[in-house]
Amino acid sequence: MVLWLAYLEKRNECGTPLDKLSFFNKPLYLTVESQIKKILKDHSLRLTQGRMDVVSVFLSKDFAVSHSDIESEVENQYDRVTIYRTLKSFLDRGLIHKVLDDNGTTRYALCAEACANGDHHHNHIHFKCMTCGQTSCLEHVDIPDVKLPKGFAPKESNYLISGICDRCNN
Ligand SMILES: [Zn+2]
Ligand SMILES: [Zn+2]
Ligand SMILES: [Zn+2]
Repeated sequence: MVLWLAYLEKRNECGTPLDKLSFFNKPLYLTVESQIKKILKDHSLRLTQGRMDVVSVFLSKDFAVSHSDIESEVENQYDRVTIYRTLKSFLDRGLIHKVLDDNGTTRYALCAEACANGDHHHNHIHFKCMTCGQTSCLEHVDIPDVKLPKGFAPKESNYLISGICDRCNN
């Protein structure tokens, strides 16, 4: 729960409005649940238990998660295909983005900015920690402008830096 709230705070700093008053007026669980519903509604996604559970996995982690991480977090309540479809709809709606790893595992992370209808606007760097193995979004560190040769049209960029993260460095 503490992690969720910390994450919601982080999202708030990145520009996602967070109704702070609800912290005091409602039980915490409702606050998180209402945030999950708001996230789904903001991305024009119908509320289903499966979607809500997957969003809550993303909110509970501040690093990118893989398909199998999600499967184990939801304790195998949903089959692989359901999770795959859920992730696909989240990607299409701009709720999450792919985080490519150096070991070939596709991970996903919440989009902090408003990425509506799969039109992903962020351009940030991803950092993989060689100690804890977690990959996270460095939301405020932009990918430097890369000049491509004539005839090449960029569509998506993935910039991965590996090293030791701030938690492992302390
Ligand atoms: Zn995005
Ligand atoms: Zn680390
Ligand atoms: Zn990212």
